[in-house]
Amino acid sequence: MFDLENLVRPNIRAMKPYSSARDEFQGEAQVMLDANENSLGSAGPASFNRYPDPLQREVKAELAKLKAVEPTHIFLGNGSDEAIDLLVRLTCTPGQDRILILPPTYGMYEVAANLNDVALERHPLTPDFQLSPELIEGIVASDAKLVFLCSPNNPTGNLLRAEDIEQVLRGFRGLVVVDEAYADFAAAPSWTKRLAEFPNLVVLQTFSKAWGLAGLRLGMAFASPEIIGYLNKIKPPYNISEATQQHALAALQDAPRFEAMKQELLTSRDQLAQQLPALEIVEAVFPSDANFLLARFRPDATAVYEYLLGKGIVVRNRTTQPGCAGTLRLTVGTPQENESLLAALRAYR
Ligand SMILES: *Cc1c(COP(=O)(O)O)cnc(C)c1O
Repeated sequence: MFDLENLVRPNIRAMKPYSSARDEFQGEAQVMLDANENSLGSAGPASFNRYPDPLQREVKAELAKLKAVEPTHIFLGNGSDEAIDLLVRLTCTPGQDRILILPPTYGMYEVAANLNDVALERHPLTPDFQLSPELIEGIVASDAKLVFLCSPNNPTGNLLRAEDIEQVLRGFRGLVVVDEAYADFAAAPSWTKRLAEFPNLVVLQTFSKAWGLAGLRLGMAFASPEIIGYLNKIKPPYNISEATQQHALAALQDAPRFEAMKQELLTSRDQLAQQLPALEIVEAVFPSDANFLLARFRPDATAVYEYLLGKGIVVRNRTTQPGCAGTLRLTVGTPQENESLLAALRAYR
């Protein structure tokens, strides 16, 4: 059965984390001469002369309200990509352990594994990009340390069925990481609602998509306080800058803008999903719970991709991904951008 202490790498269990000046003293001091900061101030237009809160308490307090979880269940990373890397490093001894992925899926899982000299076990999704009973059986039987389930999945756009994810959570002995980068666009409850039921569950979300803050680099992991404690133990001490923490707080106060953008993108997505199949060159548009559509083009998706590039329109060519032959991934843009894309595709000969 799942046993976190047994899953965590022995050297990480044993190590003493870096103790920063801001860990050892918190609060309002009159004279702060403990961290070799510059008490005179900052170059540039704003003050950033003090090290930021290593545990981002203010941001987590706001997020906790929004997500209806306790702050002790939240980890913040420099993008969810940092959380992906730390989860691999937390559980996998280089040159020895494996992670499990379900292609076609997000490319960073493989990159994090390769970087850390961790082997990959690939269990491809079915042709409709779901799990099957056989697939679940294979995952549950595996002794990989961690499985990434991306739902809604990138690049396919679909949610994985909740009952299938639940079976993996009940049977798999390692960490089950549900990557919900696109959850804000999805017509399904987040797995953060089920954290109390599954000690092996980690949910990833991000400010990069629906919040419109890809340039900020801020990702979230939700899990048990024990798992979060280990992520905090191994993260770089000041992984979230003061600028990022301040900006995130401001964004969290701007829920109406978040909501309005999300609604507009959903409307545009559904319009695009209706209009694209009318084109002769579009063979299929896959169902999407995200802010993009995967579409299969005929007779030659790469020729369409190159043609769009020539018109200054960049989409993502996914033709070489397993199960994705002939497909391009189209991000939903502004109404004008979407119209430019459609007009260009209509004019394709
Ligand atoms: C975009 C995306 C992310 C977000 O990564 P960040 O590092 O937070 O920008 C994570 N997972 C998936 C599947 C994505 O598509």
